[in-house]
Amino acid sequence: MKNKIDLKSETARILDKLGVPESAWRDGDMASFSPVTGEQTAKVRTTSPEEARRMIEAAHEAFKAWRLVPAPRRGELVRLFGEELRAAKEDLGRLVTIEAGKIPSEGLGEVQEMIDICDFAVGLSRQLYGLTIASERPGHRMMETWHPLGVVGVISAFNFPVAVWSWNTAIALVCGDPVVWKPSEKTPLTALAAQAIFERALKRFGDAPAGLSQVIIGDRTIGEVLVDHPKVALVSATGSTRMGREVGPRLAKRFARSILELGGNNAGIVCPSADLDMTLRAVAFGAMGTAGQRCTTLRRLFVHESIYESFVPRLIRAYENVTVGNPLETKALVGPLIDKAAFEGMQKAIEEAKALGGKVTGGQRVTEAGPETAYYVRPALVEMPSQAGPVLEETFAPILYVMKYRDLEEAIELQNAVKAGLSSSIFTLNMREAEIFLSAAGSDCGIANVNIGTSGAEIGGAFGGEKETGGGRESGSDAWKGYMRRATNTINYSTQLPLAQGVTFDI
Ligand code: NAD
Repeated sequence: MKNKIDLKSETARILDKLGVPESAWRDGDMASFSPVTGEQTAKVRTTSPEEARRMIEAAHEAFKAWRLVPAPRRGELVRLFGEELRAAKEDLGRLVTIEAGKIPSEGLGEVQEMIDICDFAVGLSRQLYGLTIASERPGHRMMETWHPLGVVGVISAFNFPVAVWSWNTAIALVCGDPVVWKPSEKTPLTALAAQAIFERALKRFGDAPAGLSQVIIGDRTIGEVLVDHPKVALVSATGSTRMGREVGPRLAKRFARSILELGGNNAGIVCPSADLDMTLRAVAFGAMGTAGQRCTTLRRLFVHESIYESFVPRLIRAYENVTVGNPLETKALVGPLIDKAAFEGMQKAIEEAKALGGKVTGGQRVTEAGPETAYYVRPALVEMPSQAGPVLEETFAPILYVMKYRDLEEAIELQNAVKAGLSSSIFTLNMREAEIFLSAAGSDCGIANVNIGTSGAEIGGAFGGEKETGGGRESGSDAWKGYMRRATNTINYSTQLPLAQGVTFDI
């Protein structure tokens, strides 16, 4: 099928408009593709390990100066960045659609999230405070001080090609830390564009040290340089649990800090009292939105047996009617999968589910949505007799496994019986059920919601999950503490030297 928009020239137009130098993307050594058609859009220049090391050294030099700039002044740079993002929203959002395949409202939504975190970080720049603590010794004062930490390495995944970086960067910058970013090799162009937008803010800011924000391009080998470099104090890594299993121990070996934001296998529980109209919309967006390629995508649904027959057929109809297509040329709600490997992974999981008795709606390739090089699929709903096989793993594609449950305790147990612990939801109007779900005996996830879906978190909360999701928290609340070091200070303003715990040491 012939596509109307020439993606190569459209990509070039946006990169040019946003000020990304041609040398970075025109004739480089790494091809960049759009999942919308599968065609090549650019050839980016990768960073060599030596260059990456030099950039990390430069970031460390920047740190020495930036840590001394008052935090509210650092916030001013982030404020300007937010302004530049507002001005570039349309273009960057469209580039997200071209490079990651998100539908336009989600591409723009991702940029909005970047703007939101900038606003949050600007306010935060005046709130980086510690506690004062009652001292047991007379004439003493105890307090804690938060200091900048050092160079922050950011490794990001393809599915949030720019928002994840900005969550880290806006916070790191106000905390006094420079950032070196290794974006996904599947989405280097949006990274170059985001960096170019940031550089506009830098120019307006005036006197920031060089090397505050830098991008290194390449595959995991260049990410490893970031992970292993002694001058990178913290690595915030977003991606698969497989990646986290490699990165986590390497960081631990050199006692560096890590924020790991890894895979999810998110579940929802639909209780007898649920508002089923609302639940239907929440489940449909959570499971099919972003073509199932969000870390918070709804992947498992436990429906109470008393409402199963009234709810699940309606959900199946929504699956049958959802529009799948080219996000740039149609108003489809479901865009493409990122690549062929994602499609094959989805088909394999569906086959495995079928072998275990799964009854499948959808899941087939939609060839008329794009050329052979693009991978569009109908989202799959699989009714499973039990939670087994592929249901226990994250398949990064739109597959929703639906199962019946009888009592809530059993449903919560099933929900928690997977290795990941990112996001979860309960749909109920019963206050006891909702509170049990949110209690210590309830969901074991980093995100637990009532009457909204598993995906679409706001930046104001701390984002992240437990178990094999890695335990990291980023974005809002007090996640900023991960980007700073804490010093406990005790000050003696008396004329005596009383020792703590009544110890005597008279010389
Ligand atoms: P991926 O793990 O293949 O790659 C993620 C990033 O890690 C890429 O930049 C990659 O180059 C880099 N990388 C991989 N191995 C590395 C290594 N050994 N050392 C250094 N860097 C390495 O993930 P993906 O396919 O891009 O993204 C999908 C996955 O990301 C899913 O599992 C999804 O759930 C997860 N994800 C999690 C969150 C979250 O916040 N928890 C958010 C988005 C995506």
